[in-house]
Amino acid sequence: MADFFIGGQWVNSRAGSTREIRCPANGSLVATVAEGTREDTEAAIAAARTAFDTGPWPSTPAWERGDVLLRAAALLEQRKNAFARAESLDTGKRMVESELDMDDIAACLRYFGKLAGQDAGRVVDTGNPDAISRIVHEPVGVCGLITPWNFPLLQTVWKVAPALAAGNTFVLKPSELTPSTSILLMRLLSDAGVPDGVANLVLGAGAEVGAPLSEHPDVDMVSFTGGLTTGRRVAAAAAATVKKVALELGGKNPNVVFADADFDSAVDYALTAIFLHSGQVCSAGARLVVQREIHGAFVNELVRRAENIRLGGPFDPDAETGPLISADHLAKVEAYVQGALDEGAVLRTGGRRPEGEQFTDGYYYLPTILENVPRGGLAVSDESFGPVLTVETFADEDEAVEIANDTIYGLSAGVFTTDASRAQRVAGRLRHGTVWINDFHPYLPQAEWGGFKQSGFGRELGPTGLAEYQEAKHIYQNLKAGPSGWFSGGPVT
Ligand code: NAD
Repeated sequence: MADFFIGGQWVNSRAGSTREIRCPANGSLVATVAEGTREDTEAAIAAARTAFDTGPWPSTPAWERGDVLLRAAALLEQRKNAFARAESLDTGKRMVESELDMDDIAACLRYFGKLAGQDAGRVVDTGNPDAISRIVHEPVGVCGLITPWNFPLLQTVWKVAPALAAGNTFVLKPSELTPSTSILLMRLLSDAGVPDGVANLVLGAGAEVGAPLSEHPDVDMVSFTGGLTTGRRVAAAAAATVKKVALELGGKNPNVVFADADFDSAVDYALTAIFLHSGQVCSAGARLVVQREIHGAFVNELVRRAENIRLGGPFDPDAETGPLISADHLAKVEAYVQGALDEGAVLRTGGRRPEGEQFTDGYYYLPTILENVPRGGLAVSDESFGPVLTVETFADEDEAVEIANDTIYGLSAGVFTTDASRAQRVAGRLRHGTVWINDFHPYLPQAEWGGFKQSGFGRELGPTGLAEYQEAKHIYQNLKAGPSGWFSGGPVT
């Protein structure tokens, strides 16, 4: 069980510990993998440090690093089936969704592969013919990359691709629940030409592997995607050594539907916004904010459609969405719904596990819609990260914006209207990192992704996603050597 990739070698956990990975759809054993400790993590950090300080990667021409990423994209396309299968078994998500994720991941590798060679820094006009000044972009150093379980490889490659493009070395710690595609990724990167020690992988729990990555003085940057509570811990731990930190945290994302929206497509997107991947999406449209005139008809139709959603495992051709990730997560979603009901919410549909023998060994939960949720209550403030939609209503544009911004989070939002100027006006007033108009969920590797407020700081994807992994260095050269003449006394002549 040599599942850790450290300094170009496959190695086992030093303590010999293991963890069973089980498919959330039916509890079947997917793999038994090595479980890391602080010692394993420190060995990986040391390998990444040595590769950064003495290896060729940071000074490899950027376009060559880009070529490696382009090769990685091509290899992923060749190995797509194996990657998608591994992702589906770990997460329980439908194979077709994992295949789409792999296409998106290849596109991300390709985007940063091409961007790498285009970044030549910048010449600064000094206004003085005897001085030249330029800004060069250098890698930050050793990066600790910590990722969640909902889109395991996608979230990972959003970090790995720009980190490599910029010339960093890294230690990756994927979610302990979904490690399989990270293991495959290390093989792929090595085959694509990433030198030994540049890409390192340790599997295991947050306290044993994630925490040391946030604390260790030899790690220069930590990029974290996960929940708000863990993100706060990572930022606090990283503060002790003043590491660069990037945080991609949760969301409580409003989907604002005006009465003039195209009714059928707004219903359809509202459904996708929340029930895609059973709501286990950081940008899920978990708060429907709908104009009063259409509220009744809109929610009735949503309920009808939600009740027709077919649940099933990764290889069930009839399934439209899958299980939750774990028994713990199922319990969390159940408690969230109970909390909402205790606050006075009205259950319109769902609110329980589905019936049927095929669901008994998996962590399934029915698409759930809650109405009459009190303003400022837990149901509209807390992230359930499950298939649970809350409904709020508004009278006019100002109230819609006020409700949509009434959250500590600020990751994403949707606006549905046929009035183009209103769409732009409202998008401009929403305090969220991504706003979709008459759509929900699309993202592009070339467009920045990230949160306002407590959804985090820093950006992934786009040119800013590369800049996150770079230091900007100013090099100023005086071409006319001579004394500065600042202090009296002057040089001895
Ligand atoms: P989590 O915070 O429980 O775990 C995320 C990662 O942090 C895991 O690898 C975990 O092992 C690790 N970790 C746990 N304790 C740690 C510690 N003390 N120090 C360092 N690392 C530690 O989150 P999760 O349950 O895996 O993922 C779900 C959350 O992720 C949701 O809140 C979701 O909104 C968020 N998310 C955000 C984005 C985004 O782009 N903003 C994308 C996907 C998921």
